Amino acid sequence: MYIQIKDICFSYRNSKEKTVDKFCLDIDQGEIISILGESGSGKSTVLRLLSGLETPSSGSIMINGKVMTDDRTFVLPEKRGIGMVFQDYALFPHMTVADNISFGLKGYARAKKKQRVDEVLELVNMQKFKKRYPHELSGGQQQRIALARALAPEPSLLLLDEPFSNLDADLQIKIREELKQIIKKTGTTSIFVTHDREDSRAIADRIITMRDGAAHDWDSICTVRGEFEPLSVE
Ligand code: ADP
Ligand code: MG
Repeated sequence: MYIQIKDICFSYRNSKEKTVDKFCLDIDQGEIISILGESGSGKSTVLRLLSGLETPSSGSIMINGKVMTDDRTFVLPEKRGIGMVFQDYALFPHMTVADNISFGLKGYARAKKKQRVDEVLELVNMQKFKKRYPHELSGGQQQRIALARALAPEPSLLLLDEPFSNLDADLQIKIREELKQIIKKTGTTSIFVTHDREDSRAIADRIITMRDGAAHDWDSICTVRGEFEPLSVE
């Protein structure tokens, strides 16, 4: 198994309830998983735990045979090889598109860096926009650059947190088809978080529903708190 998340528990300091309660998930290499759940169900918190921005109180996370976190180990966020795309794009406003993408390529030699920037710009079909600044791009274009930036260092895992929330409905439909193709082309193992069932169906190889901090899918139900309504994907 490429990614193994086992019995992760987590509470925010000021919270009495567990925000994440024995969350389990196994992912194959190259798979695109969607975590589908209502606002407040703990989706973003799971991504923060995976990327190392929060530390679980118990449980373990392994990526490609390496422990990222368990009782004894905690790998720092920058050492995990995880790429992230957020709903607000989070591009650096004072940097050009090319510089935004280069920023994550710290260990690369200059020529290699330039080559990789060109490769990912081609991947998202944005070669012509290399010298623009984020405010000179539409929302959809900014989101493509955010994706290119996250993919540039060839992450072992790509996390996408409601990346379409700021796009209008037409664009959302167009870009989600595109997103799946781009990710599949790179073969990047990905977790895509959303509250939108249609987004999940369009993008994911497999959908996990999340409620009250726990995961539910068809094969493995870790903890079931409250009702569980199975989903079907064609
Ligand atoms: P989702 O992404 O599914 O909308 P979140 O993971 O953001 O859910 O939030 C899960 C729960 O944790 C919510 O009840 C939310 O209010 C709470 N929460 C989120 N961030 C914090 C924080 N920094 N401190 C305290 N509680 C938080
Ligand atoms: Mg969220």
